[in-house]
Amino acid sequence: MKTACAAFALLLAAFPALAQNVKITPIGSHPGELCANDRAIIFEDPTGVRFLYDAAQNETGGNDPRLGAIHLVLLSHMHGDHVGDLKLKAPGEGTCANSARVPAPNSTTAEVVAAKNAVLVTTRAMAGFIHKKVDAIHGSGGKPMDFCRNLAVTVPVPAACSSRIDLGGVFTAQTEGARQGVEFTIVYSAHVNDVAPSLLSKAEQDLLKADGAQLGYGPPVGFVVKFTNGLVAYLSSDTAVFGDMKTVIHDFHKANLAVINLGPNPGLFQSGAYAVNDLLKPASVIFTHVNEAATEGGKLKANTQTAALMKQVTAPAYLAISERTMEFDGKGKCVSGC
Ligand SMILES: [Zn+2]
Ligand SMILES: [Zn+2]
Repeated sequence: MKTACAAFALLLAAFPALAQNVKITPIGSHPGELCANDRAIIFEDPTGVRFLYDAAQNETGGNDPRLGAIHLVLLSHMHGDHVGDLKLKAPGEGTCANSARVPAPNSTTAEVVAAKNAVLVTTRAMAGFIHKKVDAIHGSGGKPMDFCRNLAVTVPVPAACSSRIDLGGVFTAQTEGARQGVEFTIVYSAHVNDVAPSLLSKAEQDLLKADGAQLGYGPPVGFVVKFTNGLVAYLSSDTAVFGDMKTVIHDFHKANLAVINLGPNPGLFQSGAYAVNDLLKPASVIFTHVNEAATEGGKLKANTQTAALMKQVTAPAYLAISERTMEFDGKGKCVSGC
């Protein structure tokens, strides 16, 4: 026993990073590629806290076997490609530019929250919407989904609940017996938050259509996640370049890893290099939400907008390749899988 303990201690001393990395695994439409519709990413803290950042259109449903244990689901905004108005038909079906998807009338976000009894981390306005969808999945007679009692929880929680925080709010989740929890702060994203119309009731859809209107659910958001190994990840969601990237995300939160959504609408293909190099200044950056088939055979394609941006970014930049796990240490350095 003594020898075994000593050997283990020696092993830890030789490989201190082994037990102390955050595992980051994107799950997209095509294994081994970064495809147009890919957004969903699973994070795992060294203490075992596991969460899904934006369910998106990337799961086959709440029980997609690639998910595993999910303690929390983060929701950035109500666009269909994030809340999940469609779900994946099957991994690898369709093309990388246009994956095969089918309707998800309750949203993939609610499907995963319901299937995993997870904590939903989002603003109260968006939580209200997901509560109704989770209740619809559970059917009548069940206890309606509500906010969690406290802003710090031990995961897994006994029943799905949501975070009761808004912009600037902090929510903490830790596993039983862990000395420290994972801390989630909601930050702004310079985007819009109109809900995917197909997820609304028919009556609401008709009302909106009569006035050419969109229904917004308060501000869209990003997240700063502080892991127990010291990694501070900024999850941008869809956003334009904006001043908080320097003042709040870099100066105050000191994020050392930036996970950035690209795509043509918020313009980060044009302003992304300035956002990363001059405002966020992370140790590493991960790109996702590229809205183009960025890779082929797992390799970045040369004639893509993603490739053009990668060339301008000074920090080590990685692609969110589906089903490939990257490991980051507390300083934001990728130590495996990149
Ligand atoms: Zn969006
Ligand atoms: Zn989007």
